Amino acid sequence: MNYVSTRGGLAPIGFQDAVLMGLSRDGGLIVPDRIPDASAHLAAWRALAYPELAAAVMGLFADLPVAEWRTLVARSYAAFRHPDITPVVAVGPIHILELSHGPSLAFKDIALQFLGNLFDFILSRRDRRLNVVAATSGDTGSAAIQGLRGKPRLRIFVMYPHGRVSPIQEAQMTSVLDGNVFNLAIEGAFDDCQRILKELFNDLAFRDRACLGSVNSINWARLLPQVVYYFYAAFRVMERTGARRVRFAVPTGNFGDIFAGYLAARMGLPIARLVLATNENDVLARFYQTGVYHPMPARPTISPSMDIQVASNFERYLYYRAGEDPGRVLRLMKDLAARGRMEDRPAGPGPVDPLIVAGTAGTSDALATIRECHERHGYLLDPHGAVGVCVASRHLDPAEPMISLATAHPAKFAETIRRATGRDLAHHPALDSLQGLPTRRDLLPAETPAVRDYIAARV
Ligand SMILES: *Cc1c(COP(=O)(O)O)cnc(C)c1O
Repeated sequence: MNYVSTRGGLAPIGFQDAVLMGLSRDGGLIVPDRIPDASAHLAAWRALAYPELAAAVMGLFADLPVAEWRTLVARSYAAFRHPDITPVVAVGPIHILELSHGPSLAFKDIALQFLGNLFDFILSRRDRRLNVVAATSGDTGSAAIQGLRGKPRLRIFVMYPHGRVSPIQEAQMTSVLDGNVFNLAIEGAFDDCQRILKELFNDLAFRDRACLGSVNSINWARLLPQVVYYFYAAFRVMERTGARRVRFAVPTGNFGDIFAGYLAARMGLPIARLVLATNENDVLARFYQTGVYHPMPARPTISPSMDIQVASNFERYLYYRAGEDPGRVLRLMKDLAARGRMEDRPAGPGPVDPLIVAGTAGTSDALATIRECHERHGYLLDPHGAVGVCVASRHLDPAEPMISLATAHPAKFAETIRRATGRDLAHHPALDSLQGLPTRRDLLPAETPAVRDYIAARV
């Protein structure tokens, strides 16, 4: 399988080159040149344990030798704390897909444990090094650091918005003192970090000189491992309920996780509906309600990993929505750059996309969902998972069981859990042990030259 750009300006490249390139050199996002049809595999895949399923699903998109591929994938899931990797738990009428059993306690581990090993494999074979630059709204940073720390061919520079990630999230990043890890607190919002990241990558001379690589969900290998748990969860819930189709509710920020679900559906997994759930930063929900994509400045909320208004992966969705026509994507992105908004409405009446419905759960909705879910079912949601469950509960249908993605462990947001329940319920030994550890980070202004100089001085 070859990879191309959503903007049409990249000659087809293979999987390993796509992983190293991260963001396409024409400023677009890298996508496979076709979406493989998995329908014929579904029956056989149902019986597989998570790591084997991951090797099979992702194997349709990759080009590594089979034995090495299987070992690499299996090693990527060895550090998870649950034997099912992503267990599915029935909580009232909703099936919760728990994605927080990895080293950093958020769903991003599922991709980043794999990506760290994959980089390592490719770089060793090519005798190369890579300097990874990442922007994080809280969870990508610690998951990426856990995936890449101590790997001799890699350095990682993590930018996060100063004062806008939770103290625990910050400690998870800044307490890692490995020599190849650099934490940068940026005086701005997450969207600033993401803009700086894009500007660094679009400075092609610097990008080449500094051997930059990406672990953000602009990297295709970040999205690919997320496709796997849609298959895994759908199989478990279809077995359990006898249903033939399922729905997924996905708390969304950068459109990464839900894009993986969209891909699973396009591959032939029987997903009847994707429920896109946002917090007050509702640019994506408004798109599915109106056909107009109009980002506003992001506001801080209790689900900080979703405080995003410029959803970088949305371009991949637009590409497939446009029938894989890069010309159309270019026109839409030009509109967005010129006017700060774009429109992509279907010609006639009817929904913007029949597969995707969207809704918003604000702070009071999310707090109430955490409280009620705990009171009624004894189950503790994190604030991101709560946004998903709250919006999911508006779209239930007994014939199509609802699977809602729980993207982080509640202990990462202990203060919000106290606020919701009035009690100190959320703990995890991995986080309790961070108390009082020495930390290291540098404070930088939200300006690309400052970050570029910082990196240049260290590579
Ligand atoms: C990153 C993150 C999200 C949003 O995921 P996207 O892929 O950006 O849509 C939701 N919840 C948590 C806990 C996260 O870390």
